[in-house]
Amino acid sequence: MEDELVPRLPVDQEEIDFHDWHIAYFKSHILKSICAKGQDAHCKEGDDYCELCTYQNALELPHLPDMVFHKNKLCLQHRDGATLEFLPMDALRLVENGKQPLQVACAQEWKESRPESLMEEKFKPFDWTFTTDYQGTPNEKFRIEKSDQHLNKFKLMQREKILFYHDLTLFEDELHDNGISSSSVKIRVMPSGFFILLRHFLRVDNVLLKIHDTRFHYEVGNDFIFKEYTKRAATYEELKNVPPAYFTIPNEIEQHMPINEKLAYNLYFK
Ligand SMILES: [Zn+2]
Repeated sequence: MEDELVPRLPVDQEEIDFHDWHIAYFKSHILKSICAKGQDAHCKEGDDYCELCTYQNALELPHLPDMVFHKNKLCLQHRDGATLEFLPMDALRLVENGKQPLQVACAQEWKESRPESLMEEKFKPFDWTFTTDYQGTPNEKFRIEKSDQHLNKFKLMQREKILFYHDLTLFEDELHDNGISSSSVKIRVMPSGFFILLRHFLRVDNVLLKIHDTRFHYEVGNDFIFKEYTKRAATYEELKNVPPAYFTIPNEIEQHMPINEKLAYNLYFK
């Protein structure tokens, strides 16, 4: 019933043809948190599954983030068949299920500072912080090789005309008002190429921060996309000399967090 009262927003989308690439994003409403069959109901086998139940069945997580932008998608297609997509479902598929998320040292701090109700959540065996190592979804047409190169920051910092830009959220959760876990992807297309930043940002207030970044840089003329993946993590204790205002700004806090892992690849599309 509620469906009829709430007007559906049209799908927002934009696209661009750039050299041999077709680049498009699609943006829509968030996944409803209630099954279409009603409060506390679940679609059963044989039913026409609602979007929520489709999602829940595919992921098997005890619960989903507060906001899942299940129809948001960034898609890059090369003329010869290679495609690279960024999808909320694939980001959430990599959330650990059946394991505790934080190390014991942090769990103790949690115990001391959280009310009982949250502790229950804490000990459900799944990663309630929704930490993900998602690095995008390339199809099998890409040939992926390790690289010892670095991101061409000099080139990326040059002033260029922006031909296309978009920033999409894949999912977000406020961890019961105890921080934030989000996954988002940004794209920028310039005359010299395109740049994508896929970022997972996690802040558990008074405990720790994590940033998992995947950067993609395509320079016109190359037969590959360069990809760099970095994992950063730091506890509040390690960041005690950093102004607290930075803790809400990933671009600022990132500079104070050590890189624990860095991997680079070339994604050949020809
Ligand atoms: Zn349902």
